[in-house]
Amino acid sequence: MSNAKKAIVIGAGFGGLALAIRLQAAGVQTTLLEKRDKPGGRAYVYEDQGFTFDAGPTVITDPTAIEALFSAAGKSMRDYVELLPVSPFYQLRWEDGSRFDYANDQALLDRQIAALNPNDVAGYRGFLAYSKAVFREGYLKLGAVPFLSFRDMIQAGPQLARLQAWRSVYSMVSKFIEDDKLRQAFSFHSLLVGGNPFSTSSIYTLIHALEREWGVWFPKGGTGALVQAMVGLFEDIGGRFELNADVASIEVDAGRATGVRLADGRQLLADCVASNADVMHTYAKLLGAHPRGKEQSARLKGKRYSNSLFVIHFGLKRPQPQLQHHTVCFGPRYRALIQEIFKGEALAEDFSLYLHAPCITDPSLAPPGCSSHYVLSPVPHLGNAPIDWETEGPRYRDRIFDYLEKHYIPGLREDLVTCRIFTPEDFRSELNAHLGSAFSLEPILTQSAWFRPHNRDASLRNVYLVGAGTHPGAGVPGVIGSAKATASLMLEDLHL
Ligand SMILES: Cc1cc2nc3c(=O)[nH]c(=O)nc-3n(C[C@H](O)[C@H](O)[C@H](O)COP(=O)(O)OP(=O)(O)OC[C@H]3O[C@@H](n4cnc5c(N)ncnc54)[C@H](O)[C@@H]3O)c2cc1C
Repeated sequence: MSNAKKAIVIGAGFGGLALAIRLQAAGVQTTLLEKRDKPGGRAYVYEDQGFTFDAGPTVITDPTAIEALFSAAGKSMRDYVELLPVSPFYQLRWEDGSRFDYANDQALLDRQIAALNPNDVAGYRGFLAYSKAVFREGYLKLGAVPFLSFRDMIQAGPQLARLQAWRSVYSMVSKFIEDDKLRQAFSFHSLLVGGNPFSTSSIYTLIHALEREWGVWFPKGGTGALVQAMVGLFEDIGGRFELNADVASIEVDAGRATGVRLADGRQLLADCVASNADVMHTYAKLLGAHPRGKEQSARLKGKRYSNSLFVIHFGLKRPQPQLQHHTVCFGPRYRALIQEIFKGEALAEDFSLYLHAPCITDPSLAPPGCSSHYVLSPVPHLGNAPIDWETEGPRYRDRIFDYLEKHYIPGLREDLVTCRIFTPEDFRSELNAHLGSAFSLEPILTQSAWFRPHNRDASLRNVYLVGAGTHPGAGVPGVIGSAKATASLMLEDLHL
């Protein structure tokens, strides 16, 4: 009989998959349990009438972190998945018809910045230098290091102070850049990981430097192909993966996890358990029978959660060459709309949207001559705006389609072949996301690093967290970084 240590990872989002790969690669016999019928979590895939729709992440950054998973397992990423470069990274568009191609081309950026405000060419240089400094300190040095003690936080203090981490993303961008549209162009990024640019720490400006350093990529076959590549890697190195495996509880005996119990009644034993499920779900439900679960879930109730999203996946019978792969569609209001998304009690009248047109990079995601898309609108989470989405969803979809027809995709409804929506209620029911938040705890300074739920529970010492709710936070590079941090603790604790 094998003496190998056994681990269970609950949830096959990017974080759970990355952790399972790292553990299995280090010789831990790892079982990955996913409640849904497909892996990926937020990166689920829908298929309909020949159209492929990625449900979640589409802007893939930091390919080095993904490659590192394959090399940790002695394999090469190239044998599993191909990453295609995306250029421009995004096209930013406003209602007055103006556009900004956000690309990794300094001359092109300078020209476009100068056309809006010549002073901002130098200002942008200053902003880029700041963003690079934050990237070095915040991402390269601290992005995959677990913050378990307040001492770790104090040690990072001088850097955070030097970088003025208490300022918001928008305030820092505005220090360097004057033009209103350019301020939007260089501050919207934190929204991609659930951060309000007006209250999220300026540390999140590092996303700009990260994109400029390593580019923006899209997996051939869609983000789902990257998920499948990670599942394939995990299984190739001997990992055990189960779908439709809904974990009902983490079993605890004498202060230590002994394994999990599934909703179908089965019990699985392990030396340690890591949860990639929502942090509130983990403590309130999976550990709900234990005092630690009750205590932590009570604390988590008092935290601030990121906004939710309303997503429409739709297939059209025509290509859309007027679009770029990623379009950010800015509405008439920026600050006021974002405040309503994060704090409002109802849906705003206007919206800012992100429009995905992946066939621009990979036409195989739709039948020949067709195009697949999604459009997402950031909306308040269910705790702030308890909307009846069953009624409101179709209405909101129609409003967004009217807007897209007017500004971006003429004839959208005539060309519509298939369409489905994913609402905050689906985030709650399908993904067990507290309040239907799309990105877990809001990434404000007082909920980051040591202040975020820790990668290892402080009391149940063989229970770990991985994914958006723990350090460093949401986004594909974030949760892959969290897997590195969590794996390092688990392997140390298992003496491997
Ligand atoms: C629409 C959308 C677009 C986004 N776009 C981008 C982007 O372009 N770039 C980017 O970097 N990030 C993006 N993000 C953010 C990014 O997708 C997420 O932060 C990240 O994928 C979350 O990964 P995770 O590891 O936390 O796990 P999740 O994806 O949250 O997965 C957790 C898994 O746990 C499973 N689970 C839950 N409870 C149980 C249980 N009891 N038993 C078993 N399994 C369970 C769930 O079914 C799920 O599969 C986007 C997010 C969304 C929603």
